[in-house]
Amino acid sequence: MTGGKKCIGCKIVAVLAGIGALNWGLVTFLHRNLVTGLLGEGTAASKVVYGLVAVAGAMALLSVFNLCPCQRQGCEPKK
Ligand SMILES: [Zn+2]
Repeated sequence: MTGGKKCIGCKIVAVLAGIGALNWGLVTFLHRNLVTGLLGEGTAASKVVYGLVAVAGAMALLSVFNLCPCQRQGCEPKK
């Protein structure tokens, strides 16, 4: 963590990846799936959420390598 501000894209990626990780934890420890609990099992809505979480997880992995421009520029907010 650099303590700088992340761009909105990085924030969305972090939030979605976090939701996916938390849901995974809920399934493992509490045997509750928040996504299918809220949106239904196998519904289009739940598939969209899983898809977004998967994409966000991949992007979060890539962010380790500072591929986003906001990370290369030290996350300085542009005006
Ligand atoms: Zn960014």
